[in-house]
Amino acid sequence: MIKINEHYLKLQSSYLFSEIAKRVSAFQAAHPGRKIIKLGIGDVTRPLPEACIEAFHKAVDEMASIRTFRGYGPEQGYDFLREKIAEEDFRARGATIAADEIFISDGAKCDTGNIQEIFAVDSRIAIPDPVYPVYLDTNVMAGRTGAFADGRYDGIVYLESTRANAFVPEPPEVPVDLIYLCFPNNPTGATITKPQLRAWVDYARENQALILFDAAYEAFLRDDSLPRSIYEIEGAEEVALEFRSYSKTAGFTGTRCAYTVVPKSCMAYTANGEKRSLHALWNRRHTTKFNGVSYPVQRAAEAVYSKEGKAQVRASIDYYLVNAALIRKEMTALGYECIGGDNSPYIWVDGRTDSWAFFDMLLEKAGVVCTPGAGFGRCGKGYIRISAFNNHENVEEAIERIKQALS
Ligand code: PLP
Repeated sequence: MIKINEHYLKLQSSYLFSEIAKRVSAFQAAHPGRKIIKLGIGDVTRPLPEACIEAFHKAVDEMASIRTFRGYGPEQGYDFLREKIAEEDFRARGATIAADEIFISDGAKCDTGNIQEIFAVDSRIAIPDPVYPVYLDTNVMAGRTGAFADGRYDGIVYLESTRANAFVPEPPEVPVDLIYLCFPNNPTGATITKPQLRAWVDYARENQALILFDAAYEAFLRDDSLPRSIYEIEGAEEVALEFRSYSKTAGFTGTRCAYTVVPKSCMAYTANGEKRSLHALWNRRHTTKFNGVSYPVQRAAEAVYSKEGKAQVRASIDYYLVNAALIRKEMTALGYECIGGDNSPYIWVDGRTDSWAFFDMLLEKAGVVCTPGAGFGRCGKGYIRISAFNNHENVEEAIERIKQALS
């Protein structure tokens, strides 16, 4: 008899976005013709930068000629892209990451989800609350948790991000082996300072732990004192992996390209305490289960680092940051405590009421869709996440409508 992986039965249904969609359709059916403005889901709205499109087209044409056609590429990614990343994203900021420590992939979602495969099932895991759900669900699937009760899985150490710690958790009192961190944060929009990140790196070094640092929103950082990479912290290359993505950086959500950094000096241990290279393990996993990102997409990603590409990416992120600043300013003026929105596309608003009640009120009274914070974890109760991914006109209209609805 074929049996299922019963850990899947512990998963909570992905209630958040389906419930939002259900409520939005019900509202639409009741108010046909009413324009709804969506500031909920975190998807980009602006097209790929021109430099990326040009490189993309050129590479597609190369695939049409017998002289320049390419078949299977290296699973880890083409050197032209890995070299650019090592130079521009790391060495230029004083972090010594080599090209062959970079693994190109089709998404930070897949990488942050798949990476747990190379760690022991009995690893003690620390996960932020609220959280990007992939970290948690993939560990549930792998059997690293107990049952779900009262909004939490047994066996997980939750790193609470609340007003009390300004949404940046400190290392836990209890020992953990694997730590997920994400800055700038989804959903809170919080950022971490170098001293705060150093405390985590020190903790990992002292406890033979490993940090998985998700920097998918790094491009939104405008405060130069904030770390863009965990490798700006001395010693991090021995205790941290980093995940990056072109999704939000350069509008690649539909094009798919990301990367993971696994430094060669980063080690984990066998049951009897022998050191093993995570680079070798991840290389084995990646080359066995992944075929690599398509050549034209990697050429498009490479163009992000050209002079034109850099300027266009910056302009596009600036566009969203104007929205973010407006949302934060106006929600604050309405008397709501907000964080995020300055170095992040997300604004985390304390609604001072149930998240879903606040969501319903914004939908009913203003026709604006946000994301209820409760969907990201117990600490998200009472909050909503507003996303800056939309055009200026829609964001301005949404804000006007919210002001009218709340006054
Ligand atoms: N990490 C975080 C924190 C995210 O919010 C997202 C997307 O929303 C991702 C990773 C996924 O990125 P990608 O599109 O590269 O899979």
